[in-house]
Amino acid sequence: TGSKPDISRVKSAELYEKSKTYFPGGVNSPVRAFKSVYGTPLFIEKGDGCYIWDADGNQFIDFCGSWGPLILGHNNPKIREKVTEVMQNGMSFGAPTALENELAELIIKNNRFVEKIRFTSSGTEAVMSAIRLARGFTGRDKILKFEGCYHGHSDSLLVKAGSGLVTFGETSSAGVPKSFAEETIVIPLNDTTAIEQAFAQFKDQIAAVIIEGIPANNGLIMQDEEYIHFLSKICKDNGSLLIFDEVITGFRVGFEGAAAYYGVKPDIVTYGKIIGGGLPVGMYGASAEIMGHISPDGGVYQAGTLSGNPVAMAAGIATLTELNKSGFYKDLNNKTQEFVASIQRFAAARSYKFKVFTVGSIFWFAFTEKDKIQSADDIDASSMDKFKIMHRELLNRGIYLGPSGYEVGFVSSAHTKIELEKAKRAIFEALDLVFKK
Ligand code: PMP
Repeated sequence: TGSKPDISRVKSAELYEKSKTYFPGGVNSPVRAFKSVYGTPLFIEKGDGCYIWDADGNQFIDFCGSWGPLILGHNNPKIREKVTEVMQNGMSFGAPTALENELAELIIKNNRFVEKIRFTSSGTEAVMSAIRLARGFTGRDKILKFEGCYHGHSDSLLVKAGSGLVTFGETSSAGVPKSFAEETIVIPLNDTTAIEQAFAQFKDQIAAVIIEGIPANNGLIMQDEEYIHFLSKICKDNGSLLIFDEVITGFRVGFEGAAAYYGVKPDIVTYGKIIGGGLPVGMYGASAEIMGHISPDGGVYQAGTLSGNPVAMAAGIATLTELNKSGFYKDLNNKTQEFVASIQRFAAARSYKFKVFTVGSIFWFAFTEKDKIQSADDIDASSMDKFKIMHRELLNRGIYLGPSGYEVGFVSSAHTKIELEKAKRAIFEALDLVFKK
């Protein structure tokens, strides 16, 4: 089979022309602009189950899932019903509601890693607040992050970051004062010497080490389990806190996220995406002692007009109730692993320089010969040209991946064997085209 004709993007292109007059790059979040893949961005009109439809009526099997939140697929009836029910009583009070208790209970009672939590409205806010808490708790200023890890767009964390920054080839943001960036130490992932050196050089100055539970914003960069345990130990030995940013991995690789996956207890954990079931929710949590430093109990200030918003809480409650059912993750992860393994077998049989890195229901298509990718440096930027071809061929076959080769894909519980089979065939054809001589 050859390339398929391009899908129609007439309506999307019209909307894009208009949106460019309103928003920088025509979008409200950079990667959406399709800058590193083919064509104008698709304007999405509707989603249902594992499908989305764009403004031109093209239908796609969606593996982006709004970048992670939609573990139950689009327009899940249980979430929709709960949200609609709660909305009948008004949408925001800026006062406590029982719904916050209900979502907190679902999280805390089923999670060994947090005793007290605070809801925010985004992952960025959650992580930004976690950093402030670590600084307030330890009385230290410096933080240590890893090259390629993305933790949202707060100042201290936009240094050598993944996601849209790596996609556009500039991994640190303009507009971050040099003096702020100096408080952020950046080292490569999976490198014990680098972190030992950092702790020696900045003795008693590092408030926290922050790592994505499983780094998934610069490709999927699996870490050695021993390395994560080593991180935990070196933090303890040096009086620094270990922050697990589980905005992607939380409730994705399992109900207790990457912390349980590795069997490591972080000092502070951040969640986002899935806990809001598609509405804006983030969260950070820690032991009662550490959380005792948050205002009004303690001196670290953090607040939000829409924090704990009842409608968003409703979506979270409905989502986590489903995830908490026995067998949920086993089914989803098995389904994903079968899907991924058959793609890997296909590529291997044809000796394509292509690997699928995967954990749980997360996957990343990498155009590489390497068996392991454990730091941002292991990724060859020129391989993204191949992703660009693949992305186009897949869209033309009704398969939607996020528009960047550095971003991971997600399988939801709404993907059935039928859609996964269809996607597989499309992926095989796309790979053949990418690698055709
Ligand atoms: N941390 C991680 C690990 C993320 O993947 C993201 C977003 N992709 C964030 C933080 C920021 O979350 P948000 O986009 O909701 O602000």
